[in-house]
Amino acid sequence: MLPHEVMHLIGIGGGALSEGVAERRTRQICKKYNIQCAPVLHSKESKLIRLMDQLVGEDIVTEMGFNRNRNSSLTSISGR
Ligand SMILES: [Zn+2]
Repeated sequence: MLPHEVMHLIGIGGGALSEGVAERRTRQICKKYNIQCAPVLHSKESKLIRLMDQLVGEDIVTEMGFNRNRNSSLTSISGR
């Protein structure tokens, strides 16, 4: 079973963006590798991240959700 909280071990915790990214990426990994997932957490945040994935792409959203230095991340993203 892959719990959402494991995703925080490779990223950061706290805030809607990080929680949504952690939840959505957890669900994606569980689906891809046919792993049983822990119960859904942060469903509203996860839906928001799904929309953001569609708008700007998963790589950028993941970077924004897990980067400890958000200002640096946004600067990097704006330069793409
Ligand atoms: Zn969390």
